[in-house]
Amino acid sequence: MRQYDAIFIGAGQAGPFLAARMAENGLKVALIERKFLGGTCVNAGCMPTKTLVASARAAHVARRAADFGVSVGREVSVDMSAVRKRAQTVTMDARKGLIEWLGGLNNLTIIYGHARFIAADTVVANGSELTAPRIFINVGARPVIPTFPGIEDVDYLTSASILEMDTLPRHLAVIGGSYIGLEFAQMYRRFGSEVTVLERGARLAPREDEDISSAIRDILAGEGIAVHTGVSEISFSRKGEDILLNADGTSRDVSHVLVATGRRPNTDDLGLETAGVETDARGYIQVNDRLETNVPGIWALGDCNGHGAFTHTSYNDFEIVAANLLDSEDRRVSSRVAAYALYIDPPLGRVGMTEKEARASGRNVVVSTRPMSRVGRAKERSETLGFMKVVADADTKEILGATILGIEGDEAIHGFIDAMTARTTFTDLQWAVPVHPTVSELIPTLLRGLS
Ligand SMILES: Cc1cc2nc3c(=O)[nH]c(=O)nc-3n(C[C@H](O)[C@H](O)[C@H](O)COP(=O)(O)OP(=O)(O)OC[C@H]3O[C@@H](n4cnc5c(N)ncnc54)[C@H](O)[C@@H]3O)c2cc1C
Repeated sequence: MRQYDAIFIGAGQAGPFLAARMAENGLKVALIERKFLGGTCVNAGCMPTKTLVASARAAHVARRAADFGVSVGREVSVDMSAVRKRAQTVTMDARKGLIEWLGGLNNLTIIYGHARFIAADTVVANGSELTAPRIFINVGARPVIPTFPGIEDVDYLTSASILEMDTLPRHLAVIGGSYIGLEFAQMYRRFGSEVTVLERGARLAPREDEDISSAIRDILAGEGIAVHTGVSEISFSRKGEDILLNADGTSRDVSHVLVATGRRPNTDDLGLETAGVETDARGYIQVNDRLETNVPGIWALGDCNGHGAFTHTSYNDFEIVAANLLDSEDRRVSSRVAAYALYIDPPLGRVGMTEKEARASGRNVVVSTRPMSRVGRAKERSETLGFMKVVADADTKEILGATILGIEGDEAIHGFIDAMTARTTFTDLQWAVPVHPTVSELIPTLLRGLS
């Protein structure tokens, strides 16, 4: 039995940083990872996908070159092998950086293998038993594959396996019209594939307000992506080299299928029941506001605790636990202002409540919207799709939420994220003097339009 001061299960976007802080403080730490350091973000999530999105955007801009008075000569073509290699390089550089950094730390031992609890303070990995008074679970999540009839008979892709492709699908069907599916749908359309999106819900990105979902659909349909919502019956069968996809009675002959129907936490093979750690019905580990589980000495960080599904929320979990355990602070997950982006192009930047949530909260809600076609920066760049919207409380003057679907929306949204974190009222922010010509310069104008 090997004795440590702390054990980390999973090297995602929270564990390694806390492990490093503890090791630097002189604690003896074991970091157990069953695949690659950096977890989903580095190896199969944000980094490779946003690199691919950038390649897809380059192809899109090149095709539109004439709109800007630029001639690129021949028809634009995409070398999928080079595109994939570029994404792999970004991943490998990040992974290598982590291997060098964490591998060089005193007091920290990296163990490659699957970890499983055999007691509340003991795990087994690679045939060795390790024990510690503090165990941090950072095991992330993986794609959910629904039991569609025939799915096992076809070579379907997931958000991870599609990253290995270095050829262009003739026709890619994307099952699932939410964040991950939509990014791949637009990316592959821009690479040159025919793309069909099938979504079970009544609209794309169903957690957003209806006006946002509808604008997202227009953006994607405008690029020639076939979008079908409200699809209830899906089945598959093989048709020679192709896949016959049947959706609500309509058959389509497609070359590839990407299943992007959500993610589930990697908590089913951890021995949590042996340790006595509680999960909810979907397998998310139950934690309190300080990310402690019901078992003293065990914490859960990142996607597996169900309090976020993003790199920044996982990293913030690290910051919260580090502040509480190492810096004598009292940080809580409930203080976090929820924000995220959807990386279609133009991107969607989001923070706080949707309009629907704000109205359901019973507050005296005021709303302001402005089309990107009235934003100077968007006009100058000939990218005027989308709109911005803010929702506020007319009585308290609090900003409740904001959306920027439009060019640089993922960056400009930080004006609202910062204001909401600082609890600035919209009446204060209306008097900010922004730089011209930017997307952010419209924020004070947008706020003056609240009604
Ligand atoms: C296609 C895609 C695109 C994304 N894009 C974005 C984006 O643009 N922005 C964003 O903020 N987020 C994005 N995300 C989400 C983001 O990747 C995750 O939220 C983020 O990685 C945080 O995860 P985590 O720290 O909880 O764990 P993860 O990063 O998932 O890491 C968990 C690690 O635990 C390991 N592990 C699991 N079980 C065990 C075990 N029993 N023993 C040992 N090791 C184990 C896994 O191998 C993995 O390495 C994307 C995700 C996907 C799939």
